[in-house]
Amino acid sequence: MESATTAARSILTNLHEVMASRANAQAKLNQVVDIIGENLDSEVCSIYLLREGMLELFATRGLEQSAVHVTRLAIGEGLVGTIAKNVEMLNLAEAAAHPDFLYRPETGEEKFHSFAGVPIVRRERAVGALVVQHVEPRRYADVEIEALQTVAMVLAELISNADLIDEHDSLSASPHFVDPQQLSGLPLVKGLAAGHAVFHQPRINIEHVVAENTEAERQRVYLAFDKMREQIDKMASQAEFGVGGEHEAVLETYKMFAYDEGWARRINEAIDSGLTAEAAIERVQQRTRMRMRQIDDPLLAERMHDLEDLSNRLLRMVSGQVGTAATMGLRGDAILIARNLGPAELLEYDRRRLKGVILEEGSLTAHVVIVARAMGVPVLGRVHGLRGYVREGDEILLDAQQGIANVRPGPAVIEAFESRSAKNRERQATYAGLRDVEPRTKDGERVSIYINAGLRDDVPTLNMTGADGIGLFRTEFQFLVSATLPQRDRQTRLYRDVLDAAGDKPVVFRTVDIGGDKSLPYLRGDDDGQDDENPAMGWRALRLALEREGLMKAQARSLLEAAAGRTLYVMFPMVSEPWEFDAAKAVFEGQMEFLRSRRKMLPEQIRYGAMLEVPALAEVLDVLAPKISFLSIGTNDLTQFLFAADRSNPKLAERYDWLSPSIMRFIRRVLRNLDGHDIAVTVCGEMGGRRLEALALIGLGIRRLSITPASVGPLKEMVCKIDTREITAAMDRWLADPVPDLRGSLIAWAEERGIEWE
Ligand code: PEP
Ligand code: MG
Repeated sequence: MESATTAARSILTNLHEVMASRANAQAKLNQVVDIIGENLDSEVCSIYLLREGMLELFATRGLEQSAVHVTRLAIGEGLVGTIAKNVEMLNLAEAAAHPDFLYRPETGEEKFHSFAGVPIVRRERAVGALVVQHVEPRRYADVEIEALQTVAMVLAELISNADLIDEHDSLSASPHFVDPQQLSGLPLVKGLAAGHAVFHQPRINIEHVVAENTEAERQRVYLAFDKMREQIDKMASQAEFGVGGEHEAVLETYKMFAYDEGWARRINEAIDSGLTAEAAIERVQQRTRMRMRQIDDPLLAERMHDLEDLSNRLLRMVSGQVGTAATMGLRGDAILIARNLGPAELLEYDRRRLKGVILEEGSLTAHVVIVARAMGVPVLGRVHGLRGYVREGDEILLDAQQGIANVRPGPAVIEAFESRSAKNRERQATYAGLRDVEPRTKDGERVSIYINAGLRDDVPTLNMTGADGIGLFRTEFQFLVSATLPQRDRQTRLYRDVLDAAGDKPVVFRTVDIGGDKSLPYLRGDDDGQDDENPAMGWRALRLALEREGLMKAQARSLLEAAAGRTLYVMFPMVSEPWEFDAAKAVFEGQMEFLRSRRKMLPEQIRYGAMLEVPALAEVLDVLAPKISFLSIGTNDLTQFLFAADRSNPKLAERYDWLSPSIMRFIRRVLRNLDGHDIAVTVCGEMGGRRLEALALIGLGIRRLSITPASVGPLKEMVCKIDTREITAAMDRWLADPVPDLRGSLIAWAEERGIEWE
């Protein structure tokens, strides 16, 4: 290794002068081949660069000079074309014995037997090749290949600074990155989107490759390693990725790589050879990438992504570019690519520029998906190996209805997508036309359809959809988008704006549901619930709010002031026992007293409600019922607790069906237990926004749904086509003696009646 470093170092020292000189680009390339040739003692050194899709001999020492700018090879043609096509080095004792060998008489290369070539890579794409040749047949030593690869990095910088290549005129690493690809996944937020890939954590472009001061570069890497390790340890304790299942495995791998001494040592050696910290990290990563590519093992490929992630993280630390794509001038048609995201991270994106999201993980009720739904951004999740097929800037047609994403689509796919988009627009227009239609069933039952919201920007959809009101305003979204705890006046302003915009329509404000997968950076500490092993079942929502009394009081006061002179609907999340409801209500009543004593204007009336998300509450509804005006069934949490299946665990995302007899019977029992009480019951979980699930809920007796705004039109359309007596009878029948496939039975039922259910 020592000599690899020395060889590369002496070349780099000489190249440094060339790079800094004022010579023109061609003269520089001529000097480069001389320097490499001399230092590696090679009889031939040549540089091929990509021009107009062909690899052209740009400079050589040892081959015929008359071949320069004359010899041109297509991608995949000859040894040079093969190196560029595969982005892989070749090391051959006898070049002519290789099946891809192609003899070009004008070069005069017949006397040279051995051949070693490495790709020149820019932004992960081959833009040329650097080749050495010898008369004597021999395989090149690893140290020589290493030196060539390091020099190829410097060349990549030189040719890009000198505009010697067209950045768009480059090749991709493998057919995975060149050919059109159709990826499939789980539609998490339905919709269509066309745009270009943007990585949530963008790759860093390395500006300088050759170091001025090796010691300084070493220090920069040490510091970056420290920071990165700290960040990974923190991630493990704060569950940035959520907890459980795959996340933990990922974090374990991250930790293993972050503390891997071998990795750090190899970066150090690359610095010794004269590279900057950034270039050294990239150099080591390139080498690993090439080695891994030779191993065809999906598990290893997965681990490779982890190391890529980490290497990228280290690059960002060292270069000081630590933001995500959200803060780096997002393009106007971004299709965001990530392993997973937190809801707060997604909220950082400009919703006008963000057209779609594709995740390797994700589940239907993870809060990031709920946020995306609120933002009206289609999401495709569970796309395995996603980052192995997509590159920054690739064109993508996302069909999160059918569950596919077409990367680098061909003309036929584009045409089909456009026709689907046109149909989609037509359908949207039909739904928009239902704005003023009352959702009433064929037998005259009025079904109330409310929307779920959480941001100021969501409120206009209330009028656009003609929904009956806001059935769930997730107040914690404001907390998630803030860098600090929102002060009372900011809260009041938001609530007042929402009420003003809603006009006569009711708005149900849910008090903050922080915790679980909605963690707040500024609320962290020993007491923020983030150390819980199971945050979704931990210190969150009302449990946290009741103990952080200051937070709850501030929110209560803000809501009361905002609703002065009007009706305030307030709802408490995660009520597990009736006393929690009493305690929360008491905070509001206390604030009322305070405002009254100050002679402030009060709400005309307050209606208190509870969310039913914890199954235990269902057993004491008789105790709770006299205290509340309304109950909202939060099926996202309720089902995760009923099934003991973490709602954000991607491995369980497809395991349990909302249309299962257990959930259906549970909800029906809740309704029956509330018979005779004057309590409005709503379902506000994500399932209510899906037509088939809504159909089943109506069959159980639910008459109020609070759903994502995009589902209002489709639901209105369906409601108008059903007869509640019929669906109630069918549900009773199916639940009395559960059919094996309730979903299938509902589909058949809907289709027999010409009711669209998708
Ligand atoms: C629910 O749990 O169903 C719900 C509506 O609340 P959230 O999704 O915000 O937890
Ligand atoms: Mg909930």
